Amino acid sequence: MKRIIDGVLKFQRDVYPSQKALFQQLSDAQRPQAMFIGCSDSRVVPELLTQQGPGDLFVVRNAGNIVPPYAVAPGGVSASIEYAVAVLGVPDIVVCGHSGCGAMTAILRGGEQLEALPEVARWLHFADAARHAVAEQHAMADDETKLNALVRENVLAQLDNLLTHPVVANAIQSKEVRLHGWVFDIATATVTTYDAQKEKFVPLAQSSFVGVSF
Ligand SMILES: [Zn+2]
Repeated sequence: MKRIIDGVLKFQRDVYPSQKALFQQLSDAQRPQAMFIGCSDSRVVPELLTQQGPGDLFVVRNAGNIVPPYAVAPGGVSASIEYAVAVLGVPDIVVCGHSGCGAMTAILRGGEQLEALPEVARWLHFADAARHAVAEQHAMADDETKLNALVRENVLAQLDNLLTHPVVANAIQSKEVRLHGWVFDIATATVTTYDAQKEKFVPLAQSSFVGVSF
């Protein structure tokens, strides 16, 4: 914890002075460019990955970058989505999975590990559609192939779940929001994005800016 407190003191001493005007401007309001739904994993740092600063991203992170379907239960993810779209008017929502995801690994292993973690097990049921897809399509594959497939299928499943939220569905219909499905590879910093026309993940580039179309 000492390193973390030292970090705050360093921020106040060395970083804040040069960005004082930005923070004072942001103290009144925020207008983020996008909502970023990522995994809580410490290796996935949205602002670092996207090179954005304070005020740029409205971030929700949880185990497995999961979006519970609308009205299943009150929750922080649903409330944040509603606020981001209806109040902040974010034009883009990114769901970002990543390589080596512990939540996705737990789904694949299942069994005893999840029995000892009832809250995790209940939470990861929101990825059942992805688990079923991988079980059907990659039944004979090795563990690494299955994990990579599950990470991708889970991003797609959570994009589907996003669409169950009326505020998102309405904003998409009126072309006010675009959805993006990303996968970040930790070892190489590669980011791929889902191309709905090609029905596969492709390297992220300006050409993929259009997002997933529905
Ligand atoms: Zn993860």
